[in-house]
Amino acid sequence: HSTVNDPKNIRVKLVLLGDSGVGKSCIVLRFVRGQFDPTSKVTVGASFLSQTIALQDSTTVKFEIWDTAGQERYAALAPLYYRGAAVAVVVYDITSPDSFLKAQYWVKVLSDIVMALVGNKADLHENRRVSAEEAAEYAEKNGMFFIETSAKTADNINQLFEVVTNRTTN
Ligand code: GDP
Ligand code: MG
Repeated sequence: HSTVNDPKNIRVKLVLLGDSGVGKSCIVLRFVRGQFDPTSKVTVGASFLSQTIALQDSTTVKFEIWDTAGQERYAALAPLYYRGAAVAVVVYDITSPDSFLKAQYWVKVLSDIVMALVGNKADLHENRRVSAEEAAEYAEKNGMFFIETSAKTADNINQLFEVVTNRTTN
């Protein structure tokens, strides 16, 4: 799936999809800049960021990240972003059952792209309304990797991209 120009410099087109407000932009900001901005703006259309990471064997992986808007009115644009993507990361909010349903919609749409299912806002576990067991079972059935993250505390953000890297470079 990944675009390999030179075995030591791998490019991975990655797209994030999921309901508006689940934290897609915050996950990207946390990964790319190591920051969390609680006043961050709603994404309009989609935004692009890239991040290059170095692996131990001196291979570099350049993630070209398309962070899409979750709003219905942009749904028609989504194929522009996920077409040709090596990896789709589908995000929901563990406090929102509706966002979990929306994630399942995206999993169906994206069926042939390597995917990770991400339950974000894990720091809000007191308000949890989607169980990790249910999500893990759903992910397994659909051949996806599952992880819960918090863009706020940085929990599991690097792990998410590490797994994605392993799955696309091996
Ligand atoms: P997007 O529409 O999916 O891109 O969502 P955003 O990244 O814009 O985040 C939506 C809201 O959720 C913002 O108010 C964020 O501050 C908040 N948010 C994002 N990630 C987290 C998280 O991990 N924990 C908590 N508590 N809030 C988060
Ligand atoms: Mg956004």
